[in-house]
Amino acid sequence: MWAVKAEKVEASYFLDMLGTRRIVTAVNGVDLEIRANEIYGIAGESGCGKTTLVKTLLGDVQPPLRVVGGKVWYRVDGEDLDLYALKPEQRQRLRWSFISYVPQSSMSNLNPVVKLKGSFSDFLRSHVRRRDGEELLEKARQHLMHLGLPPHVLEAYPHQLSGGMRQRVVIALATVLSPRAVVTDEPVTALDVVVQRGVLQLLREVQQEQQNALVMVTHDMGVLANIADRVGIMYAGRIIEEAGVEAIFRQPRHPYTQYLINSLPKFGDKTMRESAPGAPPSLADLPKGCPFHPRCRYAMDVCREAVPPCVTVADQHRVACWLTQEEDDRHHS
Ligand code: SF4
Repeated sequence: MWAVKAEKVEASYFLDMLGTRRIVTAVNGVDLEIRANEIYGIAGESGCGKTTLVKTLLGDVQPPLRVVGGKVWYRVDGEDLDLYALKPEQRQRLRWSFISYVPQSSMSNLNPVVKLKGSFSDFLRSHVRRRDGEELLEKARQHLMHLGLPPHVLEAYPHQLSGGMRQRVVIALATVLSPRAVVTDEPVTALDVVVQRGVLQLLREVQQEQQNALVMVTHDMGVLANIADRVGIMYAGRIIEEAGVEAIFRQPRHPYTQYLINSLPKFGDKTMRESAPGAPPSLADLPKGCPFHPRCRYAMDVCREAVPPCVTVADQHRVACWLTQEEDDRHHS
């Protein structure tokens, strides 16, 4: 059963450049179902539209960004809510209680001049009605202890904590109300590898305990190999492949996914890793047809003409690539 669903979502930036209007589509017809109890990874190079997709899923859409097509659904207490049909205050109410957010830099989420207990109680007071300050702080303390964090961090200012500890505190803040979905955008990118491991472990533990949907957006496939149940690969504003984590790593079907996986370092292997040639296209100036064709060694005529649809190639595995469809047609004929 899904908790958050995107149906053909399209989101664009409406930019005024020297008096001319430009429309840059960063999320282009994305279909996704994030299940109630899973870790769903979204991977892709920077500039592929991942962060815009996060904003769209959270309902955090401010000009010049606009959702111009499709729908985002939340399943709240058994009822399906059309996110963009809700009033802003209804949307606001769902934030943190139904869906919460862990950004890349925890500093941007915490007020630098307020002790953490101030951030926690402001946050709880705005979301939990009819509770007094001390009761709320006690709830925060209990949750921190439960996550293995010393409750005295509440007495610290954000800059007094290490990056890893700050990120743990933000995870605590995002999960104190046991939301049904947590969206994280590059949650460990700014941390060193050892600290990363601990923060990922904490995210996984909280997800397992609260049994909610955890969406993890990253450019690092290695992170997803360790934590995700399913993975969606994003390229030029579209999901171009989606499968369970094992299938993605063992049998990637899309040439771009194959490059992403082949470029990962392998233990004991000192040969050069192969990454995709060239750079990702600008979302403002996409090539005709499959947006990957200028970088794809298998590109055919059809690839330069038409965008491949995303089709199911195996159980819970879908791919948007003309070559994959040709292979499957040959296989079935
Ligand atoms: Fe390569 Fe064509 Fe597949 Fe695009 S559709 S990834 S260009 S083979």
